[in-house]
Amino acid sequence: MRIKRLDERTIKRIAAGEVITSPAAVVKELVENSLDAESKKIVIELRRGGKELIKVMDDGTGMTREEVIISIERYTTSKIKSIEDLTRLGSYGFRGEALASIKEVSRMVIESSVDPFNPGTRIEIEEGEIKKILNVSRERGTTVYVFSLFYNLPVRKHNLRSDGYELKRAIDVIKNYAMVYNDISFRVITEKGTLINLIPDQERKRIESIMEDGRAKFLKEFNIDGNPISIRGYLMDPGNIKRRAILQKVFINRRPVYYRLINKAVYEGYGIYSGEMNPDFILFFSIAPEYLDVNIHPAKERVVFKDENYLYNFVSSSIKDAIKLRKTTFSVPHYTLQSSTVYIRDKEREAEQRVLFDFFEQVEKKEYRSGLVAPIKLWQLHNEYIFAQTDEGFIIIDQHAAHERVMYERILKNMDNPKKQGLLFPISITLSSEEIEVYMDVVDELEKMGFETRMVGIDAVAFDAVPEGAYIGEEDLKEIILELQKLGRIRWKRESIAAVVACRSAIKKGQSLTHEDMERLIDELFACNEPYFCPHGRPTIIKYTLEELDRMFGRK
Ligand code: ADP
Ligand code: MG
Repeated sequence: MRIKRLDERTIKRIAAGEVITSPAAVVKELVENSLDAESKKIVIELRRGGKELIKVMDDGTGMTREEVIISIERYTTSKIKSIEDLTRLGSYGFRGEALASIKEVSRMVIESSVDPFNPGTRIEIEEGEIKKILNVSRERGTTVYVFSLFYNLPVRKHNLRSDGYELKRAIDVIKNYAMVYNDISFRVITEKGTLINLIPDQERKRIESIMEDGRAKFLKEFNIDGNPISIRGYLMDPGNIKRRAILQKVFINRRPVYYRLINKAVYEGYGIYSGEMNPDFILFFSIAPEYLDVNIHPAKERVVFKDENYLYNFVSSSIKDAIKLRKTTFSVPHYTLQSSTVYIRDKEREAEQRVLFDFFEQVEKKEYRSGLVAPIKLWQLHNEYIFAQTDEGFIIIDQHAAHERVMYERILKNMDNPKKQGLLFPISITLSSEEIEVYMDVVDELEKMGFETRMVGIDAVAFDAVPEGAYIGEEDLKEIILELQKLGRIRWKRESIAAVVACRSAIKKGQSLTHEDMERLIDELFACNEPYFCPHGRPTIIKYTLEELDRMFGRK
């Protein structure tokens, strides 16, 4: 007989291993319990990234002896009264499964007390069973020790990554909660000493200490009230986005979640279409619970909004407005107005808002432009970058990336009625038969973008006109066809084709520019919807303030 029934213990252990998958998962459950118990101080100790020991100590409500003993049984929870509670995400726990699972896959000790003047309880658990019940004296609160995680699940244990990696994951979890609970102390201790020590602080200060990076001060606060979604939080100022983001956090009703669609919408809002630039953001969503599907996933990490199209559009337009209306380098007089912006689907109100936004945008652009100090000082460095003095310091503009952005938006905007520039001497390019096919497939789109072309013989194409403002030669025209071929037909969309064309028709590095050329370019750039990034997501502008320079020179 080869098929054997697994014994009860093994079944329990395997089931527990499905819920608890890593030290970080244990930390998450224990910290959530401490938060649910209204703790003000939480101390987490991790040895060997949590593999050897995870200890979570709190000063919350604590448990009586009876409660401690029952807390480790399955389906015991003090947090759910009825099934409707499941959709309300008031507290973190509601399945009463965490402690019951952890005890199956570790050696666990719980100490708890509800008042310091009477003995508290210590229980020691092994193989899922309570081995000892003792008195302890301690302050009110609870400490849970989890020793030798997965000692009895060798495959799970083997699959854990390095101590450093597991530690980092656990700390990420702690940081998530620390961002939402800025009024609670969090301390993390490892064998190397205290790693994190967060005292109660304002939300912004808390986030800055978690980020531990100078760029934290470039996070801009924003707030968009709406129904059924409100978003508030912090967005990295577009001029200070780096290749690597430190924090990209999304919370829905105070619960940390990873929601891919929201991340995508944020990038769209910033106008970043590639992974080369990654903005930091911390977003707190308030969403009416009836719009959420809370998949009763053991870790409760999966939340789905019922109308994802609406969510996507709402998020991307909110981010877009938030970064636009708050180019804080130049104080915008209408600052308070947008914080009361209400998004509703009502068409009329929407139109009204559009008008308002357009108005702000114009005011804003003028102001931004006037951020350049008259007489306008511009300087082209190595025929590649433009330096411009602003009222707060200076900006550096990448001439190619900037013009690429200008061309991209112009091409897309004028697709119905393309602006062309006729060529006195048509340019012909020779193409292979495969390239001719590419050309045939894309020619309609190209003509909508301002090209005029015709076949010459069987292997050449002549260009009689190109999009207005294009700096383009024979090489570039050929490159457009080659790049489109490389991109592959399935990825041909208006935007991707326009991006290829814009890149090839933009001012190149090495091109010398007159003062007038530079001024025009800057004007055109700030007239764009997304002046800060080229269509590939690389920055077009980098800002420096006098303050930063002073700091660099050690004046401050
Ligand atoms: P859940 O959190 O889903 O209720 P758990 O297994 O995580 O389930 O915890 C079971 C119960 O034990 C909780 O409902 C709570 O009553 C109690 N408990 C667990 N941890 C603590 C703590 N740190 N402080 C006070 N009570 C706790
Ligand atoms: Mg719990």
